[in-house]
Amino acid sequence: MDGTLTQNDLSHVVEADKAHVWHHLVQHKQFETSDPKIIVEGKGMRVWDQTGREQLDAVSGAVWTVNVGYGRKSIVDAISEQLMKLNYYAGAAGSIPGALFAEKLIDKMPGMSRVYYCNSGSEANEKAFKMVRQIAHKRYGGKKHKILYRERDYHGTTIAALSAGGQEERNAQYGPFAPGFVSVPHCLEYRAGDQGWGDLSGEAYGQRAADAIEEVILREGPDTVGALCLEPVTAGGGVIVPPAGYWQRVQEICRKYDILLHIDEVVCGVGRTGTWFGYQHYGVEPDFVTMAKGVASGYAAIACCVTNERVFDLFKDDASDPMNYFRDISTFGGCTAGPAAALENMRIIEDEKLLENTTNMGEYMLGQLEALKDKHAVVGEARGKGLFLGAELVTDRTTREPMDEKRTAAVVAEVNKRGVIIGMTNRSIPGYNNTLCFAPALIATKDDIDQIVEAVDGALGTVFG
Ligand code: PMP
Repeated sequence: MDGTLTQNDLSHVVEADKAHVWHHLVQHKQFETSDPKIIVEGKGMRVWDQTGREQLDAVSGAVWTVNVGYGRKSIVDAISEQLMKLNYYAGAAGSIPGALFAEKLIDKMPGMSRVYYCNSGSEANEKAFKMVRQIAHKRYGGKKHKILYRERDYHGTTIAALSAGGQEERNAQYGPFAPGFVSVPHCLEYRAGDQGWGDLSGEAYGQRAADAIEEVILREGPDTVGALCLEPVTAGGGVIVPPAGYWQRVQEICRKYDILLHIDEVVCGVGRTGTWFGYQHYGVEPDFVTMAKGVASGYAAIACCVTNERVFDLFKDDASDPMNYFRDISTFGGCTAGPAAALENMRIIEDEKLLENTTNMGEYMLGQLEALKDKHAVVGEARGKGLFLGAELVTDRTTREPMDEKRTAAVVAEVNKRGVIIGMTNRSIPGYNNTLCFAPALIATKDDIDQIVEAVDGALGTVFG
């Protein structure tokens, strides 16, 4: 850590934080007897806190964001040059980085054509929801307005995004929610036994889980369902890689009932799973793709709602109607730092071949996590795609009884004592908050991964003996 801040300065920072900052997702009572963690500096895969302690960040900024790692001077330079030239102008006008990043992004997304800028994942999802609602009014007299979402998925923190939220920990006590959002069953094969569909696995399970979506559509009435919103690989809800055949069947169902397909790539987008976007593993053709975290790796706030031309055309076809355009704005969607950073972020991923590294290191890490099963009976399943991985803990491998939240959290804390930061899922379904999460930066090396897995190995040994 550099020496520009004295220990006195840092003590003041801690006191100011304790007195005035309301942290995200934190129960503050603990800070009556302990200090909050202040992250002071980051470089590559590592961060330093106020005590000078170095930690290997295996979750890219806690929430899977800093995809290209900390301390990227070329991104900082791109942002600063752009800010001196023009920091902001509302999105009704264009900007140089806005146009150039849109061009580069669309080049990675065959079939898609338009980028709508905003500044958080929740907001990007809200844009898609509003587009779906407006299309319903324009084409179907308002009737085809329902938006389907899946159990265990998450789409953001605002009230409409939570209305499409399938996680009880995020949703409980924040209702009433917006009407017109309807849940479909999850597709976690490891938990198929809880779903009452018998003993299915592989493609048979994938078909069944997708057929369950069709059943909901038929129950609600296909003429009332406008869109289906899904994460390509569910993140905080359990690191759920969809089963074989699932996505192909989902696409078929959407086409059959003229339902728009909205894929939430806020976590998987821009490299996390080894392809530019998670959906690209499955050959699906979405109508909306939303993204945020990895777009500029957290160097600037930027989110995008990307659509295909079919959607875009609906908002420009009849210019004589003064209401026929997308009547929406995002003030900070006009900040130029976001696309300037995003352009450089994408260049780094290409030049440093980080998609390839993600695929290779992801396979290696999955193998290492799977190997932990031989040593620790509590590891029920290791799963993931690219450098987005989870290890689900159980009390009994045969019954798959989920490990309790407290002991899962104890593992996370023990890992941290060993100098590594990992995460855990949230309570998506009551009784299930038992999956350790890993999302190291896409620059991770074998040595980094060994350090992470060794820490988990040691922590499991300490917590469970
Ligand atoms: N979608 C997914 C899949 C997410 O994981 C998140 C954030 N964790 C969001 C949307 C919301 O993004 P934001 O916090 O930027 O609003």
